[in-house]
Amino acid sequence: MYDVIIIGGGPAGLNAAMLLGRSRRKVVVFDSGKPRNRWAASMNGFLSSDGMSPLEFIKKGREELQRYNIELLDKLVVTATYSKGSFVVNDADGAVYRSKKLLLATGLKDKLPEIEGIEAFYGKSVHHCQYCDGWENRDKAIAVYGKNRDGIGQALSLKTWSDRVTLYTDGTDKLRRIDRERLQRNDVKVCTIRITGLKGENGMLQQILLANGEAHEQQALFFSSASVQQCDLGEQLGCEFTSKGIIKTRRQQNTHIPGLYVAGDADRDMQLVIVAAAEGAKAGVAINIELQKEECK
Ligand SMILES: Cc1cc2nc3c(=O)[nH]c(=O)nc-3n(C[C@H](O)[C@H](O)[C@H](O)COP(=O)(O)OP(=O)(O)OC[C@H]3O[C@@H](n4cnc5c(N)ncnc54)[C@H](O)[C@@H]3O)c2cc1C
Repeated sequence: MYDVIIIGGGPAGLNAAMLLGRSRRKVVVFDSGKPRNRWAASMNGFLSSDGMSPLEFIKKGREELQRYNIELLDKLVVTATYSKGSFVVNDADGAVYRSKKLLLATGLKDKLPEIEGIEAFYGKSVHHCQYCDGWENRDKAIAVYGKNRDGIGQALSLKTWSDRVTLYTDGTDKLRRIDRERLQRNDVKVCTIRITGLKGENGMLQQILLANGEAHEQQALFFSSASVQQCDLGEQLGCEFTSKGIIKTRRQQNTHIPGLYVAGDADRDMQLVIVAAAEGAKAGVAINIELQKEECK
């Protein structure tokens, strides 16, 4: 029996493991090797590691955990249940693990816009978060992708980073007069023509190709789209979700299920590496305190 099983070895799970390892807890971390930002060349906005490769960051984190009593298993967890005060977890090979507490740090995955060939640009010149990649694209010609009215907020926000922002609604024309006037007042151009493809080299965008045969010179494309849970373990365990599919947690990353915690992008808060790591640390401390209370005679 482990003290704690952590599912997800991204920034949230690894930082939780560190706090729990330092609290002399017996911990196992499962990870299926798909951190959300693995597409990106650099991880930005994390003090002391600004610009580091995301995979290098994970590698360094795993190395730092070697000095504690933590098992790192590169395995996918397929089922998780809670029964009579303990958690039972099955990996994809059918092995069974038990723990007193469980932390889900399984993150989210993103839905890319449906543009042919976009994967080749993702993380290099196609981005979804201006706080992660706005600085690197400052003063560039920036396209914002959003069907209907979805891209308005992001297009206006990106004016903080560049004067050259164009909103592409990809064949939809649902902007209201008030939206168009606001975009125009803020010098955001609008293109409603359907996008047929992207052109560039080595993942760096050069042109947006349109159904009317035009090609617009653009150097970066930002999009905001729905992201979904990377796995269904939260659902299996009976977690509560927001209308946007995010797991509801309380102040110490705990859920309404006793002993079950959630940290990182999978639960509510800003979706940044440093926030995920901080939530992991919070969960680690809270779990240790809960175990201490149970052990105290
Ligand atoms: C393209 C891109 C670029 C980004 N750039 C930045 C940036 O520059 N700066 C920044 O602060 N943020 C950035 N982000 C956001 C950042 O990636 C997330 O905020 C952060 O990764 C969240 O950490 P996490 O630990 O919650 O989840 P993740 O990093 O997604 O880690 C979750 C882990 O859980 C594992 N997992 C999931 N389900 C299971 C399962 N059933 N069994 C076993 N393992 C499982 C996954 O394989 C994964 O390794 C970016 C995101 C994207 C998509």
